[in-house]
Amino acid sequence: MSERPPHTTTDAGSPVGSDEYSLTVGAGGPVLLQDTYLIEKLAHFVRERVPDRVYHVKGGGAFGYFEVTADVTEWTKAAFLNEVGKRTPVLLRFSSVAGEEGYPDSDRDVRGWAMRFYTEQGNYDLVGNNTPVFFVRDPMKFPDFIHSQERMPATGLRSNNMQWDFWTLSPESAHQVTVLMSDRGTPRTWRHMNGYSSDTYMWENAAGKKFWVKYHFKTEQGIENFTDAEAKAMRAEDLDCHRRDLWDAIAREEYPSWRLEMQIMPYEEAADYRFNPFDITKVWPHADYPPMTVGRLVLDRNPENFFAQIVQAGFDVANFVPGIGPSPDRMVLARMFAYGDSSRYRTGPNYAQLPVNQPLSGVHNYNKDGPMRYHHSGNQPVYAPNSYGGPKADPQRFRDPSWFTEAAEIMRAAYEAHPEDDDFVQPGMLYRQVMTQTDRDHLVGNIVAHLSQGVERSMQERAVGDYWTRVDSDLGARIARSLGLKP
Ligand code: NDP
Repeated sequence: MSERPPHTTTDAGSPVGSDEYSLTVGAGGPVLLQDTYLIEKLAHFVRERVPDRVYHVKGGGAFGYFEVTADVTEWTKAAFLNEVGKRTPVLLRFSSVAGEEGYPDSDRDVRGWAMRFYTEQGNYDLVGNNTPVFFVRDPMKFPDFIHSQERMPATGLRSNNMQWDFWTLSPESAHQVTVLMSDRGTPRTWRHMNGYSSDTYMWENAAGKKFWVKYHFKTEQGIENFTDAEAKAMRAEDLDCHRRDLWDAIAREEYPSWRLEMQIMPYEEAADYRFNPFDITKVWPHADYPPMTVGRLVLDRNPENFFAQIVQAGFDVANFVPGIGPSPDRMVLARMFAYGDSSRYRTGPNYAQLPVNQPLSGVHNYNKDGPMRYHHSGNQPVYAPNSYGGPKADPQRFRDPSWFTEAAEIMRAAYEAHPEDDDFVQPGMLYRQVMTQTDRDHLVGNIVAHLSQGVERSMQERAVGDYWTRVDSDLGARIARSLGLKP
């Protein structure tokens, strides 16, 4: 026989009289203010949401582990990577960028890849996308980019015209828009796509030698995408197809996995590399820096409570561990501020004390109090320096990751261009050298479909003349023909 369920209580734990009926004066009379259980229930109900993320709102995720499969100690002293076979627990949240919580999972968009390694030296968060590049290279343009993907101020409607306006006036977006408009912009599931750090980071070994690195998580399920028509049909069938697919696969014990391949550039090579290696709109061609397999990621546990473990997960690009740090990539440097700040706004200054955000190793510092603090460090001194045994930094063992910068005038300026830096070279290579004929045909069809929905004629002309023709003249001509424009 099953056990009796517990009796219902107020939030203070005292038993309540009914799950069905409010307290009234007689069966037909008014509801009483003294029905504190009802009032508590309604008051809690209207406070059920925390503010959404500003973007990457709709997502899903799961827990699992990362296993080191090759010796990487030559490049990093990170403790969780210091031994072949070592496993570290992870959380991975997938998301789409522009849509709100009810948006169809299958719509054309970049997919977020937010990952947390719960290491013995604290949380290491790696927050990237399913694409190796990004739309803008300077964080100053980031809020504008996101605004252009969201809704129009007057109508509250999304607008392809607004998106093409921003993109065509921002030529650095051409590489990412080429990927977005290819079938990789509509992945079949989260399991069937890759994850990339996109940004460049620094690894440092035990001897203090530094390297620039990019992470590529390659799906072991194989890449599978929807065509544009399949993605649109899926809107009617299942708005939550990606969230459901991940949950169901793990529930069936079909655990999705990815191979971690690293691109590693010796520190000194960055200065003269043919592309600016810190420009997130570019990849490092594989021939220059061949990806090396170093680990494997497996997701094998669904969340027990979606809100507590996925919605309230607060990833922070600033969460590094010794042996890993940022690079001069401007997007990383700005994201190191914005992610933690987003969590402080959404769930409060003590968001890191929530179970999903707590490191498995301890936390010892002088931050104190604030809303919703529930883990206190007892009678520990609340200031440093102190004479009473409070935590002490160890500058000999733990130095901030660093690199050299030349003394220069403080200014607002573009990155210095490297010899082959050009916004259209790499998307052109993707179109001409990497895509199959079918990929190219679908790319043309997807771009034409997108440009045909509410985009002004002058904007279409700019997209052809100033953008796609510069990626590739054949691509520009094909789009022009389909739109009835002069190539
Ligand atoms: P390679 O031929 O060595 O690599 C091309 C890579 O492109 C593949 O390994 C694959 O990466 C990815 N790819 C394959 N098909 C598609 C597609 N239809 N849409 C998007 N990406 C695809 O060439 P290079 O390294 O010299 O790069 C050439 C171009 O390939 C780049 O300009 C870039 O656009 C694209 N690319 C390069 C990547 C890199 O890190 N070098 C990564 C991804 C794309 P994967 O296995 O990661 O899917």
